[in-house]
Amino acid sequence: MDIIAPIFKEKKLKLTPQRLAVYNYLLNTTSHPSADIIYTDIHIQYPTMSLATVYKALKTLVDVGLIQEINVGEGNFRYDGNSLSHPHVQCLGCGKVDDFKDLSLDNLNSSADEHTDYKIISNKVYFYGYCPDCQ
Ligand SMILES: [Zn+2]
Ligand SMILES: [Zn+2]
Repeated sequence: MDIIAPIFKEKKLKLTPQRLAVYNYLLNTTSHPSADIIYTDIHIQYPTMSLATVYKALKTLVDVGLIQEINVGEGNFRYDGNSLSHPHVQCLGCGKVDDFKDLSLDNLNSSADEHTDYKIISNKVYFYGYCPDCQ
C-alpha cells in the first residue's frame, strides 16, 4: 500500500480499493494471470467486486502503463505487474506463462530497425516450449 499510493499519485490515478486490489495482486504474482483468475482470487477478499470492475481496473492500469497486457495467442489477455518490456515463455503442455531470468531482447529493436523503413520502438516476444513439469 505504501509503495502503491505515490505511484498512483504520479499517474494522477484515484486510489480506489478496486484498482489497489488489482494492482497489488499483480505486483505479488509472476504467474501472468488472466482477468478471470484475478477476479476469482480477489473475489475471496472483495466479495462485492464484479468481473466487470476487475476488467475496468485492469484497463485503467494498462492505459497509464503501470501493468501490461500480454497476449500469447489464447484469445484472452493475461496481465503482468512488470510494465517493462520483457520476453515471455509459455508452456505448450500446461499453458503457464513465465518470465526469463536474465534475458534481455533490447538489442532486438535495433537489429529489426536495420531491416525495415519503420522506426522500431518496441517488441513483444513470446517463446513456446515445455516447462520442467511437462517435459
Ligand atoms: Zn507445463
Ligand atoms: Zn512477465
